[in-house]
This record gives sequence, C-alpha cells and structure tokens, in this order.
Amino acid sequence: MSNRVKMRLLPQDERNKNFEEVACGYTETEALAEANRCLNCVNMPCVSGCPVNIMIPHFITKIKARDFEGAYEIIKESNNFPAICGRVCPQESQCEAKCIRGIKQEPVAIGRLERFVADHHQRTNEIKEFKKNGIKVAVIGSGPSGLSCAGELAKAGFEVDIYEALHKPGGVLVYGIPEFRLPKKIVEDEIEDLKQLGVRIMTNMVVGRVSTINELRDQGYKAIYIATGAGLPKFMNIPNENLNGVYTANEYLTRVNLMKAYEDDASTPIYHGKEVVVVGGGNVAMDAARCALRMKANSVTVVYRRSSNELPARAEEVEHAKEEGIKFAFLSNPIAIIGNNDHQVKGIKCIKMKLSSPDESGRQRPVEILDSEFVINCDMVIMAIGTTPNPLMKMTITELEFNKWGGMIIDENGMTNMLGVYAGGDAVTGAATVIKAMQAGKIAANSIIASFT
Ligand code: FAD
Ligand code: SF4
Repeated sequence: MSNRVKMRLLPQDERNKNFEEVACGYTETEALAEANRCLNCVNMPCVSGCPVNIMIPHFITKIKARDFEGAYEIIKESNNFPAICGRVCPQESQCEAKCIRGIKQEPVAIGRLERFVADHHQRTNEIKEFKKNGIKVAVIGSGPSGLSCAGELAKAGFEVDIYEALHKPGGVLVYGIPEFRLPKKIVEDEIEDLKQLGVRIMTNMVVGRVSTINELRDQGYKAIYIATGAGLPKFMNIPNENLNGVYTANEYLTRVNLMKAYEDDASTPIYHGKEVVVVGGGNVAMDAARCALRMKANSVTVVYRRSSNELPARAEEVEHAKEEGIKFAFLSNPIAIIGNNDHQVKGIKCIKMKLSSPDESGRQRPVEILDSEFVINCDMVIMAIGTTPNPLMKMTITELEFNKWGGMIIDENGMTNMLGVYAGGDAVTGAATVIKAMQAGKIAANSIIASFT
C-alpha cells in the first residue's frame, strides 16, 4: 500500500496573512483510506510509543468499521483531550516512530486519525454523573497537566477545584500555541467536557499570592496537585537585551494569542516589527516566527545555533514555517543586539558556529568560528531560547524541595516531599510536551485515588 494520505492545508500565500487553522483535517474518505494502512499488529508497538498508552490499533479498527463514536470512546479511555493531542503531539517521535508500517514506508498517520475522530465527535451538553466520594482535591494551574489530573480525579468521584492565575483556563494551550495551529474553540470545548465531569475552575487566582498551600488545606482539600508550568523566560545575557523591540516569546505570544493582538480592536499594545529575528529552534520559536509573519512583518528570520538536523521543533511545524516564507540562519548565534539613538532595535550581531563533539544532551555541541561575526538588520527580536519553572511556588512554599533548575522534586507517584502535595508537568520537568504534562497529571491522579482506597 502507498504512503500516508496527505493532510490538506490552507494555501501558503493565504494562510500567512491570517490566523485561521492551517491544517484542514481529514475527510471521512481520507480517514478511511489512512486507517486501512494500519496492519492491526498483535504486539501493538505504537501503543508503547504513546505516553498515555492509547489503544491505537483498537481505535483505528473502529474507524475502518466507520464506528467513529466507538473510536472516540476508546481514545477517551486514555486521553481526555484527543482534539488537542491530535493537533499538537510530536507523533513522529512517539507512536508513529514505533509504527511497523514506518519500516518500509511512511508510518500510519496516527495523530491525524486521532484528530479526525475527535473532530467528528458530536458534543452534547449532557452532565456526566459520577458517584461522589466527598473528598476535595485542589489543582493549581489549568494547563494540560492540571486539566488531565482533574479529569481523572473527577471520573473517580473526587470533588476537584482548579485554581488558575490567568483569566482563561488552558495554560500554554491558550496563551502560547497560536490559533492557526490549535483553534481556541477546540480547547474551550475540551475544557467544557471537563466541567461536565463536575470540575470547577477558578480563574484570576494566583496561588502563593491569594492563598497559600496551607490555607488550601485549611479549606478542606485532602490532596493538592501543583501544575504551574514553566513560564519564566530565559535570556541570553548578551548586550542590549533591554532595547525597545526585544520581546520574549512568552510575552509576544501571550499578547498575540491570549489577548488577540491581531484583532483591530485588541486592548493590548503590540509592536508590529517589519524585519523580525526570532532566536531559538523549538516549537515556541516556530510559533513566534509564524505569528510575526501574520502580524504583517516583511521578513522573519529564525536564528538557530545548530543545524537544521537538530531543530527541536515538530517536523511539520518547521515544514509549514518554511512554506510560509520564514527564513532560517542555521549555525548562527547572537552575540549582541544593536540599537539606534532612540533605544530601538536596529540589528542583531551574530557569529557563525560549527558542530563539535556531543554535549550532555547527546547533541553535537555548537562552537564559535573565529572572526565570523555578521549582522542581520532588524527592528524586532523575539527571544525563544527556553523557559524555566515559574518561581512563585519556590518563593512562597519554603517546605517544598526543588532541583537546581527550579523544578519541584517528586517521587515515582508524583508526590513532593510534602505529604499529600503532588506536582507534575513542566513545573517538574521544565519545558516539555503537552502529552508528557498530561501523563504526569494522570500519574498523580492515580496516586491520589490509590491513597484514598
Ligand atoms: P502550562 O501549560 O504552562 O500551564 C500552567 C498553568 O499554571 C498556566 O495556566 C499558568 O497560568 C498557571 N499558573 C502558574 N502559576 C500559577 C499560580 N501560582 N497559581 C495558579 N495558577 C498558576 N508541546 C507539544 O506537545 N506540542 C507542541 O506543538 C507544543 N508547542 C508549544 C508552543 C509554545 C509556544 C509553548 C510555550 C509550548 C509548546 N509546547 C508544545 C509545550 C507544552 O505546551 C507544555 O509542555 C505544556 O503546556 C505543559 O503543561 P503544564 O500543564 O505543565 O503547564
Ligand atoms: Fe497500526 Fe502502525 Fe500500530 Fe501496527 S504499529 S497497529 S500498523 S498503527
């Protein structure tokens, strides 16, 4: 059988001017054709590649039989947010990397099939009743990790309250990942499903400021799950990072995505760079670059210190970015930002790099090439070189243990050194992936459930 069924995309010269979703999803015919490429392998290697162990061949078999609702039920047993994961999971390095079909041809497009099933599902407003056990649990942070933990607990009968610092729930799913990759309506719908399980979400609640962990305990919460993410941006510590026109990707994406700065009547100010440089090579860098293009930049260049082979961003996003006209300066590292007399960015000075022996991450270490400096003229620089866990928990809960990168230390059950206080997601691992954050939420939820049975 031939290669995988391609996903239709919005035309390149149209999509880089608006925030509409780029990937259009499979039609029924396309989904059936792709599902029929699955060999229904007995040992199911793809399942072991999925961090939440979705029974992949089982749901694909249901698609083949046109039982799309049955497929949805199977996915939902392991994953509360299939419409999100079908869109943003790095399947190429997870389930699809293990697919037997992939040995000789392209692997089965598992993520696209997951998205098809989730999009096909008809939502109802039916409130799902679970037998309540009367035990209250507080979840701090409403990103994928907190939401996943809350969903599992609610299904087991716990009374779950989520405390979220921002005015909208969803974490990076709403403030980081842009509309053209993950429409916010999808996130809202999946969160609505969670509310139907009985989960309550309190927004504008910065735990550590409005209440402490001990105060939450005093309110009757028998367990607490901390999923506050990794929202503290890193800087390069090069000259002039404080010039006007230098943004962190966090701030830029929050203004564009959460505050909808692309709408004419948006209440948030944003600088519209014409010649934009984005520093970094991950998903965040790709998102920032593609947003800048849609915010009417004339040119956007991604500066990355390694080569294209080491780019950590999802392969599909890199491909889409290139198609849209994003330029790349590989093996290049910024050494200073250059400003004009008005303290506004007018360029970025970089140096050429070459790859040397592998570093502790196993990737080849980039080293500078002597006398190879060059300048890229630009009026805006977006730093997307990584983030570390939000420091507020560390500042306000002195009993909690943290590692040297600011991540909370947990045991194999997801519990911190404080009895009954669990943690997971980016707040523990540093910036990772949606599905890993969800997996951590599930592990903690199962531990909490076990501790009360
Ligand atoms: P978050 O999603 O960060 O959620 C944490 C939540 O806690 C936030 O809502 C925050 O406001 C809240 N919070 C923080 N402090 C407090 C407090 N004191 N009190 C109350 N609430 C608090 N991963 C992928 O798998 N695929 C992708 O394509 C992808 N693209 C990405 C693009 C961008 C721009 C970014 C930034 C990340 C991307 N990631 C991607 C990574 C992924 O989104 C994260 O790994 C994941 O969201 C982590 O989930 P989390 O729940 O641990 O934290
Ligand atoms: Fe189907 Fe690939 Fe999983 Fe085999 S490994 S069951 S072909 S998805």
